[in-house]
Amino acid sequence: MRYKTQIPFNVPSLGREELRAVAQVLESRWITTGPRTKAFEQKFARYVGAENAVAVNSCTAGLHLALVAYGIGAGDEVITTPYTFAATGEVILHVKAVPVFTDIEPNGFNIDPEKIEQAITPRTKAIIPVHFAGEPCRMDKIVEIALRHNLIIIEDAAHALGARYRDKMIGSFAHASAFSFYATKNLTTGEGGMVTTNDSEIADRIRMLSLHGLSHDAWNRYSALGKWYYEITELGFKYNMSDIQAALGLVQLERFDEMQKKRRELAELYYQLLVDNDHIVLPPRPANIVHAWHLFVIRLKKLCKKLNRNFIIRDLNIQGIGTSVHFIPLHMHPFYQNNFGYETGDFPIAEKTFESAISLPLYPDMTETDVLEVVDALQSSIDKNEKADLKHKVGYAEEIY
Ligand SMILES: *Cc1c(COP(=O)(O)O)cnc(C)c1O
Repeated sequence: MRYKTQIPFNVPSLGREELRAVAQVLESRWITTGPRTKAFEQKFARYVGAENAVAVNSCTAGLHLALVAYGIGAGDEVITTPYTFAATGEVILHVKAVPVFTDIEPNGFNIDPEKIEQAITPRTKAIIPVHFAGEPCRMDKIVEIALRHNLIIIEDAAHALGARYRDKMIGSFAHASAFSFYATKNLTTGEGGMVTTNDSEIADRIRMLSLHGLSHDAWNRYSALGKWYYEITELGFKYNMSDIQAALGLVQLERFDEMQKKRRELAELYYQLLVDNDHIVLPPRPANIVHAWHLFVIRLKKLCKKLNRNFIIRDLNIQGIGTSVHFIPLHMHPFYQNNFGYETGDFPIAEKTFESAISLPLYPDMTETDVLEVVDALQSSIDKNEKADLKHKVGYAEEIY
């Protein structure tokens, strides 16, 4: 069956207010970092409950600057999950540290705190937990490990704006947390990011590094020497956010709670419709967290080894339903295998999870009917898959679910 409606995997929620905000910033003629960026930083810090927020041009830039600001560099090891996007591993290498991957939890998507503990060496300096799909990692355990071993926690919070671990907002308690405002993320500025931290010196340093390492003192001397004066005090980067992005961000932040409410309702509906489906493992939603529902990632079980996930994705696509896969584990990519000796087989839980994962459409502009259509299409694809390749039926995923 082919549906009339095409349901894309992701559509950013942008309305008239965003259009007006961007028009206003253009009319003002102040289009780079300026008053709107400052206002966005202040409102964002207040929203997540952090002392400071520094706007940057991506989450990747934010993670990179947080590592630099905390002095992590050559010879240091940084523990993170292989079940993440390119950015998380890349920034560790850009500061010349070594990424040390540890496997995810047996029945989830997040890094396993027990395995972090086992990977710690005298060279370990930091942990980068990734709150996959908007589900916070087990932060009580990770914070406890970090305290015991004197490690810095830099959160990859690209998926986790609005998430809470117990009573705390993500972004309010780690050494630093980096958020993404990429087109598909829960709050978007097209491209953009934010670092939050309760350490004001670190925030100042990140801000300075984000604009070529120009000294604040020099900025302050402007009035005495004239506007042309500045001093380069250390090697910096060009990672600042523009006021065009910040104008979008300010509107999105105003709308954020309402957008999150919609995501929660749609996720709840997926749950209700899929909870009895014995081909599917639903995403974890532990009781002590607020999930940000950036992604709704199901895992398939008991399907045919040959076709399974890829068959379903192709068939959903034919039915007009967009999906995606998060993530191809970093250690399975040629770059990591060729340069660091990682091999497929090193992180079996991440690999099996990847092989069975499908991210279903989830965004505030979806309707409940859209969710019903996705679920119908999914059931139809599963039925086809079952019929297509019964002779290869092996139930390979059951050992971990
Ligand atoms: C999107 C994403 C990033 C990178 O965000 P950018 O703003 O595009 O740099 C980092 N980590 C994860 C897990 C992501 O999904």
